[in-house]
Amino acid sequence: MMRWPLARTWVLAAALAAAGPLRAADPAEAIRLYALDCGHATFKDSGFFSDTGEYDGKPGAAAVPCFLIRHPKGTLLWDTGLSDKIAESPNGVENEGIHMSMARTLASQLKELGLSAADVTYLAFSHLHFDHTSNANAFGASTWIMNGSDLKWALGTPTPFGVDPASFSAYSKAKTQMIEGDYDVFGDGAVRILKTPGHTPGHQVLLLQLRKSGTVILSGDLYHLRDNRKFRRIPTFNSSRAETLASIDRIERIVKNRKARFVVQHDPNDFAALPRFPAYLE
Ligand SMILES: [Zn+2]
Repeated sequence: MMRWPLARTWVLAAALAAAGPLRAADPAEAIRLYALDCGHATFKDSGFFSDTGEYDGKPGAAAVPCFLIRHPKGTLLWDTGLSDKIAESPNGVENEGIHMSMARTLASQLKELGLSAADVTYLAFSHLHFDHTSNANAFGASTWIMNGSDLKWALGTPTPFGVDPASFSAYSKAKTQMIEGDYDVFGDGAVRILKTPGHTPGHQVLLLQLRKSGTVILSGDLYHLRDNRKFRRIPTFNSSRAETLASIDRIERIVKNRKARFVVQHDPNDFAALPRFPAYLE
């Protein structure tokens, strides 16, 4: 039986990696996932987290993490949290029944890893609500991976609820990679943006293939709380209820097929269950 030269096998492997939509990464490549604390929010009335009334009149709380992925080919920052300026107010800030606070800044956490904003190769957002885009303008030197549908929606008139176009205005001068659907950030299948519209028109989740932890999926705002996932509760302010349910169907199948760890980004329990920074998943 003829054996293929090693080089040719590598070429084939690379071709398969490019073609296979959910192929696992080369297990030899070490990837680290850091969960950064990018704020905390509490709500007097968290009714808007469900359009079927379960949270009406009830208080609620949300974690606001950012995620830093260190890959041999570069660094990706997924979501940029609440504004670092909030950290200047030790008791946080109050706005229309929402209290927001930051125990520490995103910048200080990057610094703890020996990084500056300029060391972040890629910037990507689950979607363009302000609690995912504040601080984005600090990353003018990064390549911004932008979903075209979300950008068009976020720049629409009138400005949609929850969007602060000024918080991500630096995209217009930055290097950008415009995308519409799924996107393989480093080209090896290890870090993939998956299209999951519904919360916003261009909402997306992030799928990671890690050496020890296996598949990890970061929710964006596909769900805000564990109970939203458990009971399929859809927020009042989603752009499309039907698209949200279709996106949930897709992602839950992937979770099952790959036995993935699913992280509900805003759920304080899910955030607390992740390694405490500067520890990481790998
Ligand atoms: Zn959010």
